[in-house]
Amino acid sequence: MNPQLQELKTRLLEVNDLNSANALLSWDQSTYMPSGGAPARGRQMATLARLAHEKFTDPAVGKLLDELRPYAESLPYDSDDASLIRVTRREYERATKIPAEFVARLNEHQAESYQVWTEARPANDFKRVQPYLEKTLDLSRQLANYFTGYEHIADPLIDFSDEGMKVSTLRPLFAELRAQLVPIVQAITAQPAADDACLKQNYPEAQQLAFGQEVIKALGYDFNRGRQDKTHHPFMTKFSLGDVRITTRVKERDLSDALFSTIHEAGHAMYEQGIRMDFEGTPLAGGTSSGVHESQSRTWENLVGRSQDFWMFFYPRIQAAFPEQLTGVSFETFCRAINKVERSLIRTDADEVTYNLHVMIRFDFEIALLEGNLAMRDLPEAWHARYQSDLGLRAPDDRDGVLQDVHWYGGIIGGSFQGYTLGNVISAQFFQSALKAQPGIPTQMRAGHFDALRGWLTENVYQHGSKFTANEIIQRATGRPLSIEPYIRYLRTKYRELYQL
Ligand code: ZN
Repeated sequence: MNPQLQELKTRLLEVNDLNSANALLSWDQSTYMPSGGAPARGRQMATLARLAHEKFTDPAVGKLLDELRPYAESLPYDSDDASLIRVTRREYERATKIPAEFVARLNEHQAESYQVWTEARPANDFKRVQPYLEKTLDLSRQLANYFTGYEHIADPLIDFSDEGMKVSTLRPLFAELRAQLVPIVQAITAQPAADDACLKQNYPEAQQLAFGQEVIKALGYDFNRGRQDKTHHPFMTKFSLGDVRITTRVKERDLSDALFSTIHEAGHAMYEQGIRMDFEGTPLAGGTSSGVHESQSRTWENLVGRSQDFWMFFYPRIQAAFPEQLTGVSFETFCRAINKVERSLIRTDADEVTYNLHVMIRFDFEIALLEGNLAMRDLPEAWHARYQSDLGLRAPDDRDGVLQDVHWYGGIIGGSFQGYTLGNVISAQFFQSALKAQPGIPTQMRAGHFDALRGWLTENVYQHGSKFTANEIIQRATGRPLSIEPYIRYLRTKYRELYQL
């Protein structure tokens, strides 16, 4: 092997090990750590993050990348070595553009702001977090400005999570999507709402966990290379390609919460578990963007987990797991209940049809704030006005208005939300191509088998990790660029059937 490439890989492996150790500390913090561990844990994680950053931004890494340039240029674009060098350079340049002192200042502010938000939200006190949010906006602008030559100030921030996506491409995409979605929402909500009382009975935690695990095992989540634990806000995390974990929470008065969040996180995890093992320890060994990652959680949660094909196999099983609660509930009633569409105030509780409207509101506000066209003090009222016009609802307070999502309070303003809607759109585009290549997928699903779908996704998406960008993966896997058409078609077909529209 090329000696410089060997040395680069050795250095990258150390960075990876530090980051993985940090991820393990973070997982522990969210699952089993006693509260007394918090102060030291914060410090330990900051230390590991600093060491990883120092190692990765070492000028020796830049020198190796320079020396490897002719080698990379002599290889085809999609060769593993060329891809590793290309992706590492992109991340190296990004990491070295942001001064370490700024990263520390941002992290410190985010921790403080998050803490204040955890108190301000239950107290319904936006005024309390407003100065923190103003500083976050300021820091977000500074962060964007370390990257010169952008079209829009949000572009570098969007690029962090959805590389290659820009305001100028997302704005028309979202506008078109909105124009198509609003009539669908109107048609559905003009009908009597689906009755979901069957989901709101008492469902004991142990049985809920057992059923969820039975489902994700069938979907293909590998428990030999993962495990599931309980937490407050479900997430997926990875320590290596052989250890990809998920977490969940259970509400005993709600059957759908734990089940669908389990399938969602398993979707993220199956993406990571499907990456080629020889990418282990390199920047290629991870999902390629937040949009493509979310496309996989949404595929398994919605296109599979909320489909009639899936429940033709699993409905008798869930009835057997909960005979008292579900005997006598018809298949049709259950399918309509898990697909209930309604205008609501909270993004995380929204159904798959209205969900994107919540995302677009946030996306537009991020842009307006960064552009300076919306003052922070006006944000709460602007929020209410927009919910009124887009969803026909007004939250009784800011707690369920502008204070509801953690993203801006613990992160940055810009690039925080578009990945969710991109995920929905991409999921349908992949699914359509998978069905075309493997027409037997629905028949398999009705028999509780998912190999054909998982096989297509592994072949076309999972195995590549970060080797290709989102746009490249979409083009390669589906033969065309990102399009909202498959997603709209999917929603129309599904809900026409469910609601006899
Ligand atoms: Zn997700």
